[in-house]
Amino acid sequence: MPICHTCQGEYMRAESLCPHCQHPLGRGTTVCQHCKQPTDEHRLCPRCKRDVSAWEKELASTLGHFILRRWGVVGLLPSLGAIILWLTYWQKHQLSLHRPADTLLGIILSFFIFTMLYEDRLLMWERSWAAEVYNVAPTRPSRTIGVAIVGGLFLSFVLIYVNRHWGETGGFELKLLFALGYAAALICFTVACTMGVLMAEIGRLNQSMPQPLFVQIEHLLQVVLDTILEKIEGGHGEDILQRTHTADANLRYEILEVNRIPEDGGIRLLLLTYKHIQRPDEDAQMRAYWVKEVWNIDADRWGRVRSLKPGKSEAAESR
Ligand SMILES: [Zn+2]
Ligand SMILES: [Zn+2]
Repeated sequence: MPICHTCQGEYMRAESLCPHCQHPLGRGTTVCQHCKQPTDEHRLCPRCKRDVSAWEKELASTLGHFILRRWGVVGLLPSLGAIILWLTYWQKHQLSLHRPADTLLGIILSFFIFTMLYEDRLLMWERSWAAEVYNVAPTRPSRTIGVAIVGGLFLSFVLIYVNRHWGETGGFELKLLFALGYAAALICFTVACTMGVLMAEIGRLNQSMPQPLFVQIEHLLQVVLDTILEKIEGGHGEDILQRTHTADANLRYEILEVNRIPEDGGIRLLLLTYKHIQRPDEDAQMRAYWVKEVWNIDADRWGRVRSLKPGKSEAAESR
């Protein structure tokens, strides 16, 4: 099942909602069967009500697309440089510590790191938002780039120095160390270039994708409320402070307190519910009551309820 990266919730495509009337679109996705409006291929996540079509397009894009269409090729330039260096310099210096396998090893490891960083782009995007909302260490990609460049330059100077002094006489151990140093230097430059491109990618995601659920506390609260009201009543409740009462609503609620948990971005919620029940009174007549109950709720930053504890429920009050 696809995952909505706005709320990390799984959904079935047929469950996704019309962007105009929020009714499930079913199998047809171009025109909503309920409001008859064209969807322009936009569909909402049934859980967080944000566009999932944007995520589907994003996740369908390949590494090749990133390399060729989104400047990912910049991350491969150090490997290209290593090939040029091998063809133009190392081949003419046979009595050196460098072996052709060093270039190959460096390129393979660099490509592995390049792919890993690309795969982690959504994690970096999420982390950049998380650092703004709760107590999590920011990723600081510019610092990573700086450290990688300094590390790469330092290793390059060491390699040049070692090769100058022992290039003609170096034994197997020194050649092995040279190979590892060479690969490490190439990896450093690859990390610096790839992170530079990914910083631009994260900027693009910030512009074009819905924000993660935990960023807006109102949005997070709504997803948590939808989940718990369904647990309590099996349906959607009615906010007694914001909406007018209707006679057939079986559950009314009032939010008493909402607090962000600074350690992990989740929320703690104190909710008062009024549940409609029918029961006989002293004269054996069926009468309607509203049962008042207080709930302590704890949910994580993706709106997943971690605990739902009922407080004391009060004597039914007739209305
Ligand atoms: Zn519709
Ligand atoms: Zn969602």
